[in-house]
Amino acid sequence: MKKLRQFLFIGLLLPACLCFAQDKDSVTVAAIVKEATDNSQLEKLAHELFDIIGPRLVGTPQMKQAGDWAIAQYKNWGIPAKTEQWGEWHGWERGISHIDMVYPRVRSLEGTQLAWSPATGSKGVTAELIILADAADSIAFQKWLPNVKGKFVMISMLQPTGRPDYNWQEFATTASFDKMKADRALQSEAWRKRISKTGYNNKTLPVALENAGAAGIVSCTWSAGFGVDKIFGAYTTKIPTVDIALEDYGLLYRLVESGNNPKINVHTESKDLGMVPTFNTIAELKGTEKPDEYVILSAHFDSWDGASGATDNGTGTLTMMEAMRILKKIVPHPKRTILVGHWGSEEEGLNGSRAFVEDHPEIVKNIQAVFNQDNGTGRVVKLAGQGFLNAYDYLGRWLAKAPATIRQQIETTFPGMPGGGGSDFASFVAAGVPAFSLSSNSWLYGVYTWHTNRDTYDKIVFDDVRGNAILAAVLAYMASEDPVKTSREKSVLPNTETGAPGVWPAPKSPIRKGPVN
Ligand SMILES: [Zn+2]
Repeated sequence: MKKLRQFLFIGLLLPACLCFAQDKDSVTVAAIVKEATDNSQLEKLAHELFDIIGPRLVGTPQMKQAGDWAIAQYKNWGIPAKTEQWGEWHGWERGISHIDMVYPRVRSLEGTQLAWSPATGSKGVTAELIILADAADSIAFQKWLPNVKGKFVMISMLQPTGRPDYNWQEFATTASFDKMKADRALQSEAWRKRISKTGYNNKTLPVALENAGAAGIVSCTWSAGFGVDKIFGAYTTKIPTVDIALEDYGLLYRLVESGNNPKINVHTESKDLGMVPTFNTIAELKGTEKPDEYVILSAHFDSWDGASGATDNGTGTLTMMEAMRILKKIVPHPKRTILVGHWGSEEEGLNGSRAFVEDHPEIVKNIQAVFNQDNGTGRVVKLAGQGFLNAYDYLGRWLAKAPATIRQQIETTFPGMPGGGGSDFASFVAAGVPAFSLSSNSWLYGVYTWHTNRDTYDKIVFDDVRGNAILAAVLAYMASEDPVKTSREKSVLPNTETGAPGVWPAPKSPIRKGPVN
């Protein structure tokens, strides 16, 4: 009875204050939408960051340049910003990389040096190629190993097709598609065995070949789409490692197999810069009522460097920069402090955000919410509670204020499971902080842009990114103004497959001196 009366009492009071809140919030949200639509800076920022500065590999001068650029943008918008060093990394600068087939005919090949790969000098190295042998075992492999001396060693499988599966699906007969897939599965398994029988793995094999006197390593990490390769880092320290696109890799492979002894010239002019500082770039709108409580907009700033890092994570970066710019204009005096974290070295293991969590316990204990975006250019379509028991209450309340066109696209899951990795929100979730992933629709991100040589400006879908900037700004605003501090209570996690109780992910320390291979 007592409960009922209390309920009625609250019920009578609520309408008046809700109306007021609704008005104020909808006016603010409308202003955010208008600013994002009429005065968008996304195209300009994208051109400056992806076309002029380029990719942002940890330890490169471009990463430093990007940090300086971001700080200048924020200053321009009247938002204080700074760099926070948290470690150091192997400094390296990409130079010219040029790969030509020079025998039996001339063809410039599509390929590039892997990150941190040593240089060849200005003339380059010209040599024949050899395909990794299918040795019976590691003893046979050691006997074969002297054959690589002075040659470029091809360590990737010859792909049976350069067409993505969706293309086969559309045009092949079912029988030929099935046959191709079955053959490819057998070849892939045989190649996996070919590597393991050497006694080395994908990391140690290039080093063994380098020590045996190879001229260089040639690989092809095809990304299963037209014209896409994934470009990661080299394991060699004296000889170059290059990725050659599927079409040209296949050409060379078949010429070697048919005894036509192709020769290539590899010319790479990167610079080794020793150890250099690595850092996060932070900007903030100081809170007025609760300056020591924080809402964090989060997106890693670094990238791999096979292209421009436009969608990994350029678009997440721009989403958060644009949200901050809009907030400064529409909500210049938020209740709580709104901080944006542009993390360094996410790609090598969430290092920047892990360092921030470790270095700022005073902030971490007072975070209202973290919103991270890091899976491409698409509009946000998923939002989960990351295992926080009461996330539905506050996330639901905040999301309700987003424009219907944005909100209605988003499928929510509560309480969900705590993310153990994948992107920077996980560094915060592990520390018990309500941190959420604004998860985008695919646009074939995994195949075409994630860590590929095609992650460029033209892949950005600006209308989707504009919507994401609005969403990030609205969520940050709502989280900042919420009268209640968010609950951190964790849900009881379901048992694992073995029947053991589910365990919350544990915080991890960053790598503060890299790389660690
Ligand atoms: Zn990413």
